[in-house]
Amino acid sequence: MPELPEVEVLARHLRPLIRGKTIRGVSVQRAKVLAPTSPRIFRRTLLGAKITGLSRRGKYLLFQLRTPGRKGPVTLLGHLGMTGRFFLARKKERFPKHAAVVLDLGGKKFIYEDARYFGRLTLNLAAVGKLGPEPLGSDFRPASFAESLKRSRQAIKIRLLDQTLVAGVGNIYASEALFRARISPRLPARRLSRPQVAQLWRAIRAVLAEAIKCGSTMPLNFGGGRPDGLFYFGRVPGAPDYYEERLRVYDRAGRPCPNCGGSIKRIKQAGRSTFYCPQCQRA
Ligand SMILES: [Zn+2]
Repeated sequence: MPELPEVEVLARHLRPLIRGKTIRGVSVQRAKVLAPTSPRIFRRTLLGAKITGLSRRGKYLLFQLRTPGRKGPVTLLGHLGMTGRFFLARKKERFPKHAAVVLDLGGKKFIYEDARYFGRLTLNLAAVGKLGPEPLGSDFRPASFAESLKRSRQAIKIRLLDQTLVAGVGNIYASEALFRARISPRLPARRLSRPQVAQLWRAIRAVLAEAIKCGSTMPLNFGGGRPDGLFYFGRVPGAPDYYEERLRVYDRAGRPCPNCGGSIKRIKQAGRSTFYCPQCQRA
């Protein structure tokens, strides 16, 4: 599932490809992904609109639109869910099997494809209103982070997944940040010491910044192995494992810890896998 760095990399790649384009056609294949926006409102708002920008908040993409007959800008919110992909395709290409929404941008088609339809492309922005601070922004401060951890009995790993605490950290980067900070994923949030909170704060920023840097330098035009210059996101057959290579604990159960050589362990917390090194992450 894409987290903050993957969405940021996607936004950076997609932005120059769609900015300035006018939406000439709107095809909704799966109305569910627009909810609670109705297909009728969606079509009416988007048709003829010009895409003026693309930004990210947490794990969400925010498409800025200027629409005819409306004064202010309109924001379209995108979320990839578990299996979503946003990409551009040639105009004459057939819709992929799981296309949920297709926007005609003139020369190219913008496609939102989602095999499981857990993602979103909607005019409803309620989800971003509840988000905590951006971890790489100046609003994310050690003092306020410490304050919100102090109020929770939850294990720190589970607490980190709460998007109101800090936006964009998911299962992968929660495990990676805790490993980097040498903190046990089971430690109750309120029992972290001041130095541990500071370490974790730094580790969260470091793992996310590194992942963005790594993602920004990798070729994203996999296209099923064809270097066709079109944009794709998500793993396709034959795509190299750039992301997995640089993760230190995530999905590495049984493999040696890069610090101590001990075995990485996998445990379940709140129904989700956590990966950590029991030697390096004792406290
Ligand atoms: Zn270790």
